[in-house]
Amino acid sequence: MPDAAVAARSSETTNSGATQQVDVAVVGAGFAGLYLLHKLRKAGFSAVVLEDAGDVGGTWYWNRYPGARCDIQTMDYSYTFDPELDREWTWSEKYATQPEILRYFGFVADRYDLRRDIRFNTRVKAAKWDDTSDRWQIVTDNGADVSCRYYIMATGCLSTPKPPEIDGVKDFKGEIYFTGRWPHDGVNLAGKRVAVIGTGSSGIQSIPLIAEQAAHLTVFQRTASFALPAHNGPAPDDRKTYFEADRAAYREQARWSLAGVPYPQEMAVSWQLSDAERRERFEKAWAAGDLVHILTQLWADQAADFDSNALIGKLIHEKIRAVVKDPETAAALSPQDHPFGSKRPCLDTNYYATYNRPNVTLVNLRQEPIKAITASGIVTDKRSVDLDVIVFATGFDAMTGAIMAVHPITGRAGKSLSSVWAQGPQTYLGLTVAGFPNLFMITGPGSPSVLSNMAVSIEQHVDWVVDRLAALRDAGFTTMEATETAQAGWARHMADCSMLTLHRLANTWYTGANVPGKVQTLMPYNSGVGPYRGICNEVVSRGMLGFKLTGPDVAEQCNDGEVVRLQPDVRLVLGMLAEMNLPQIESLGAQGARDFLTEFNKGRPAGRPVGEVGSGALQGAEGPLPYRLYRPATPGPHPIVVYFHGGGWVLGDELSDDPFCRDLCRRSGMIVVSVGYRHAPEHRFPAAAEDGYAATRWIAEHAAELGGRPGPVLVAGWSAGANIATVTCQLARDRGGPQIAGQLLVCPVTDCRFDRPSYADNAVGYFLTRALMFWFWDIYCSPADRTDPRASPLRGNLAGLPPAFVATCEFDPLRDEGIEYAEALAAAGVPVEQLQARGHIHSSLVMVDVVITGVGGRAKMAEALRGFAGLPRKLEESADISPISVNAAAG
Ligand code: FAD
Ligand code: NAP
Repeated sequence: MPDAAVAARSSETTNSGATQQVDVAVVGAGFAGLYLLHKLRKAGFSAVVLEDAGDVGGTWYWNRYPGARCDIQTMDYSYTFDPELDREWTWSEKYATQPEILRYFGFVADRYDLRRDIRFNTRVKAAKWDDTSDRWQIVTDNGADVSCRYYIMATGCLSTPKPPEIDGVKDFKGEIYFTGRWPHDGVNLAGKRVAVIGTGSSGIQSIPLIAEQAAHLTVFQRTASFALPAHNGPAPDDRKTYFEADRAAYREQARWSLAGVPYPQEMAVSWQLSDAERRERFEKAWAAGDLVHILTQLWADQAADFDSNALIGKLIHEKIRAVVKDPETAAALSPQDHPFGSKRPCLDTNYYATYNRPNVTLVNLRQEPIKAITASGIVTDKRSVDLDVIVFATGFDAMTGAIMAVHPITGRAGKSLSSVWAQGPQTYLGLTVAGFPNLFMITGPGSPSVLSNMAVSIEQHVDWVVDRLAALRDAGFTTMEATETAQAGWARHMADCSMLTLHRLANTWYTGANVPGKVQTLMPYNSGVGPYRGICNEVVSRGMLGFKLTGPDVAEQCNDGEVVRLQPDVRLVLGMLAEMNLPQIESLGAQGARDFLTEFNKGRPAGRPVGEVGSGALQGAEGPLPYRLYRPATPGPHPIVVYFHGGGWVLGDELSDDPFCRDLCRRSGMIVVSVGYRHAPEHRFPAAAEDGYAATRWIAEHAAELGGRPGPVLVAGWSAGANIATVTCQLARDRGGPQIAGQLLVCPVTDCRFDRPSYADNAVGYFLTRALMFWFWDIYCSPADRTDPRASPLRGNLAGLPPAFVATCEFDPLRDEGIEYAEALAAAGVPVEQLQARGHIHSSLVMVDVVITGVGGRAKMAEALRGFAGLPRKLEESADISPISVNAAAG
């Protein structure tokens, strides 16, 4: 519909002056606003949509620059709420152009007769919550203000272009355009001297086409982006076939996927693949021309690990060099300052080849910053460029810009959103804000939004919000408001999630770094649309957890709390384990449990390479015991850590904690010798404890033979292994050696009592259960022996023991006895460092490369071991331990 007609229609809908009364006011008529209106109507709400633009389309109304297309395949970037609509529209290309996408939104608006409730050319200026009427008052710049029960901001994550921020823009006598506000009638650039400032997606899409028209194009690049060829054309056969085979299943997979497009979870980590295998995967991804493919399908650790990510950067640099003829230009176009994917990569058509054209010049602003824009062009430190046209492809005040542009948004007690968000956006689920009842944001900060196929994320938010409003109404509630507890919990969860990926390491619009003065924080939720959807559903299934609900004729309901208290990756692991429907270990019998563990461990990612791995036999208390030795790649001799595996004195062997031993070896730069001590029920108490002591003595005596540093050794262990480690320290003190320089105790068993709160709090659900611990104790040790300090070291004499590092996990039955042991050691005068890992379970700190949030804790353990051994606590940075991993915070 032409703008004029739309404007005429919109003015009919209201009488200026009188306030328009509706159940719901929606701001924005883009992807989100249109679906909201349709869904609200279906649910029986009266609604109005207020839209600044002259017609529907949002992003696709405003961004009409040459080359504008989507970068998620259009087959995926479509509405899915109505299978009939899905069938009625067929996209002509793999990545549709802006005009085609805009036609699609027009088609949708017509199909559901949406425009009659949309007021176009109407900007929302301010909004105020009225506590007496429990309604929002919305101030517009055109026509009537609106009074509504619910206020939904579907204002877009990328809808507020950033101001130019360059001196002298007003002095320029030529034409100025913004990609995000491109004129509807197009721009004639033929024969003109054109500048494009900015090389994000908008710049990269438009530059090749502008270069074809302009007499000369000068591109001003501050940060080089990664771009891969879109290979546009018809939708690829493999994806189309997959989609057509079962559309409903395909859509459902998308909803539960990582990024909103159905792709499997990649399992192979980078170091498991050879160079040739990695190259093959990369070439396949490059040929596919699909962002989600290249961002998720190369190797499992690509988004999390700096080194594995750097491999991709190098491969893309090669591609750039192969196309761009001038080596200096190729180097300038090759991103060096951010990990691949930490800034949104771009899809291009002929982008790099454009720099081989004689009429294109690249100006590298890192070497010659812009000094000013003048009447005739742009002046840098090194040159002055005369211009007829300047195109600003400088991006958006993303995620929060459009929300904060409605100013003030006043919630309860006169509080404005801008004051609440002064230190960065605070939300519950990215949907709501405490103190702002009945205000909802579609794809707001704190939700997956821009780190996903937005179509899927928008539909999920719209469904969740409208379904909640309908449920509220049916139950007699009229207000819904996030609690402070829930919001603070979400902020913590967001902070935990931000440690999982490399996004936090780049200066991007994801973090707000592109806008001078904006508070920097990773704004989108980075742990996937499927997990996020699960959390939103859980909020509902747990009785609207974290929301206060009120209504005139019903009792107030507030089920306060935090929806996610586990670390995000621990939650994922537990979810995966739950789906596997594993048997209860204690139901299998000792041998059955061992066999199960061996099988289970086969599916575990391999540990990282170390300098050398060897094995042999040492002398235990009553005979030879197997050991496995992990040697660092650095020249020795190294101090030796004697390691005792976990498994409740019943399960496991010297190989079963292999990834953790490798990690300790790599991070500490020390030899780790993992001991295969004897197990119950064949060898009950005190066999394991006595083996631990004997093995430590043997290793200390044979240190030089093992290539280790003679002198004191260190001991370490996890779970029952930590029990053995600390018992070994007591025995070594009492039996005249060997000398032990320090003890690392990870989730140690220290006492036979089961009545500490952590046993009750974590009795079920977190892998190590109370029942399993009962079973381990029963097999290992008769009740009469359990108070022996060799079984319950907390009951022993702790004075004079070596310094200790004690790690405990919040959701572990053993938490309290571990903390008590650390405190008792300290009380006995032993130097102790404690790590109380928030959000972790019994096994998560040792689940190397599965639980990334354990990295910071493991780095601290290694530092402690080095300190015990008299070495500098920080290992000199080596090529194979990424600084990011080492720096990552403990959970
Ligand atoms: P928008 O489409 O941004 O619509 C918001 C609307 O709200 C706008 O029309 C705006 O005018 C209106 N509005 C804002 N504030 C006010 C106010 N105060 N008063 C009245 N009206 C207001 N995402 C993908 O997943 N895949 C892609 O391929 C993709 N390509 C993109 C290409 C470009 C060029 C850009 C800029 C973004 C792209 N995105 C893509 C992200 C894109 O923004 C979303 O996919 C989606 O279109 C957002 O829809 P929305 O309705 O939430 O917001
Ligand atoms: P952008 O990614 O933020 O890129 C803006 C560019 O302008 C960057 O190169 C930036 O450099 C530069 N810039 C900003 N201010 C500058 C200044 N004062 N001086 C010099 N350079 C400056 O914005 P965008 O390209 O519009 O893309 C935004 C997002 O929209 C994309 O990431 C994507 O999600 C979406 N989008 C998608 C498509 C698509 O392919 N479908 C197309 C366009 C947009 P710095 O990086 O140094 O700040």
